Amino acid sequence: MSPSKEKSGPSTSSGRADLELSCAIAEQIRTHARLTTPLECCGLLLGEGTIIIEARPARNVHLSPQTHFEIDPQALIDANRAARAGGPQVLGYYHSHPFGPAQPSATDRAMAARDGAIWAIVTGDQITFWRDSESCFTPLSYELAKG
Ligand SMILES: [Zn+2]
Repeated sequence: MSPSKEKSGPSTSSGRADLELSCAIAEQIRTHARLTTPLECCGLLLGEGTIIIEARPARNVHLSPQTHFEIDPQALIDANRAARAGGPQVLGYYHSHPFGPAQPSATDRAMAARDGAIWAIVTGDQITFWRDSESCFTPLSYELAKG
């Protein structure tokens, strides 16, 4: 079986994707979202450059987790500390929209730090990736590698 490709946004072109992650990580994110529904799940995306090597679940500490997410600050502190010590970098975050759509909500736009981080949004089986860039969320294409 060849690696499957999924579209995150209109920038997808054959063979070249903005990001790469394994099927196992994608499935892990979907499972986390499914088990957390009807609340939003969230977590960290760790890796190097354009390759995501780990999706680490984190507690959603927002007071309204039905419609919002806030990653447990301690999880972020721990991950950033580990990164400074030579561990994988914190590339970004993922969270779910239990009832869709898989694109940044008005709340997400308001929360965006415009820091270039990667955001993954999961709805059901669909995962989309975005770059939280200076003026807006830019859709990122991605490739699923086996493993
Ligand atoms: Zn959202």
